[in-house]
Order: sequence, then C-alpha cells, then structure tokens
Amino acid sequence: MHITNINQCAATLSQYLQAHRPLTVLAGAGLSTASGIPSYRDENGNWQQSPPVQHQQFMQHHHVRQRYWARSLHGWPNLYQAQPNLAHKAIQQLQQAGYIGTIITQNVDGLQQRAGSDRVINLHGDANQMRCMQCGQLTPRLDMHQRSLQLNPTFADHEASVLADGDANLEVDFSQFQVPACRSCDGILKPDVVYFGDNVPRDRVEQAQQALAHSGGLLVIGSSLMVFSGYRFARQAVQAQQPLILLNRGKNRADDIATVKLDSDLSATLLSTVERLLRPPGERLGEPELTNSEGSTAAHKNVAS
Ligand SMILES: [Zn+2]
Repeated sequence: MHITNINQCAATLSQYLQAHRPLTVLAGAGLSTASGIPSYRDENGNWQQSPPVQHQQFMQHHHVRQRYWARSLHGWPNLYQAQPNLAHKAIQQLQQAGYIGTIITQNVDGLQQRAGSDRVINLHGDANQMRCMQCGQLTPRLDMHQRSLQLNPTFADHEASVLADGDANLEVDFSQFQVPACRSCDGILKPDVVYFGDNVPRDRVEQAQQALAHSGGLLVIGSSLMVFSGYRFARQAVQAQQPLILLNRGKNRADDIATVKLDSDLSATLLSTVERLLRPPGERLGEPELTNSEGSTAAHKNVAS
C-alpha cells in the first residue's frame, strides 16, 4: 500500500498505532533536517556530498584526522546548537502516551532525547561525546572543540558551509593543524560515533532487536534504510510477520517488503497523527497543541537540565 495524501497517511498511521501499540520507531536523518542538520543523502538515497570519513582511514592516518578536526571546527557547532523540531516532539508525545515504545535512532545528534524521549537507542552513537581509542575514556566533545580552537586559531578564520554529522566544506592545507590527544594516555580521540566501515557494537544491536521483537511492529521515520545497520530491522519485522510502516519521502530500500508506505511530509503527518490520537475531538479547533514557541520552550528546558 502506497499513500501520499497527508490526511490519509495520518489516518493510516493512527490506525496502526492503535492496533499494534507500541510500535518501535527507527529514525533517520530526515527527522533532523528540519532542525538544520544536513543529511548525507537525498530523497532517493543518493549521496548529496562526498561520502564521509571511513573508520580505518581515520584511525590509520594522521592527515585524515587533521582534515577531520579542522573541518569540525566549522561544522560541529551547528550540530551542537541544533534544537529538537516539531517531529521530535510529536514522537515524544506518542511515546509518552504508549503508542511508541523504544526509539532506535540512526542520528548522532541527541535531539530525540532532548525532546524529552526516554528509551532511545543511539544505534550509531553520540557525536557530542568523545571516546579515547586507547583507554576508552569518554569526554565531552565541547572540550575537544575548545582545545582544537585554542591550538589552531587560524583555521577558525576560514569560511566553510556546514555538512552532515558536524563536517564542513573546507579544503585548505591541513598539514599544520594540531590535533589534541587524550589527556590521560595521549591516545587517539574519536567522536563516539560508528563510522562507515565500522560495526555497530553487538550488544547495542541485540538490545534494539529485543525491543523490536517485544513490540507490535516497526515504524521507520525519515530513513531510506540504505545502510544495512538500519535495514536489518525492517527485515526482522517482516520475518516476524510484524507490520512494517515507512514514513519517508522518495525511494526506500524496504519499499518492496513494507506493509504500507506513507510517502508524505513526516512532520505534517506526525502532527496530524498526534492531533487524531491525543486530542479529544472537542479541543481540536482553535487551540494548536504544537507551536513553534512551545517547541523551543521544551528545547531550552532540556538544554538547561
Ligand atoms: Zn586515553
């Protein structure tokens, strides 16, 4: 079943949430683009920019890390300062009401948690945290960013547009860039993110598989499922004869195996679904629940806490 009309999409999604609650959510980059975070891929799953750094390249080559951190000086603040959007908030409300259970996210921005959700699995890690690849110590990315700035003030002066996952479009001579190392052991610091070419930790995958197995089905939001780490959950749902609902515009790797494809704007569809499921009929007119001001208030609260 393939639906494009927003009202029909919201009606269908509401029916699935009522009949199969709680659904497990698998979220992708399309959820965070409205927060100003660029996506690696376009609506059809093709790269919008050059592919991101590979795990082995990052670990093996100092010059790759110099380029990475110089570009991060320009790209990461955008990620760090981003605020949850109305779709994050709608998912949080549906979770709180019991329609959604665990949220598996492929995003590394932490925005679903900052929208107030609990039971979130960061499948690909957390870009705002650093991990020492030698001693394993976790430290805030902000500390790494500030040390990079202090050591390399001239690199901060360039103009660069922001790319996905804290990267930026900067090509200069990076050979003089000073890369900070672990304060405890002098080891290589890496964002606590699963890079392309690396694997999601086994226990994290199993935790997500368990959550899906004990729920009513899978709702994929804003992901084309081009990466296998996400696609495997679509296959798991189908094999277990659970409903698989796709909410994203354009092509999806799971189009052929999905129970229903909701090919519509994800924010509008989720807001309309919240309206249908969580608002008593008499209160629906003249009292918009989700406004921009409410969204930003919630976001500020979460930043402060
Ligand atoms: Zn260390």
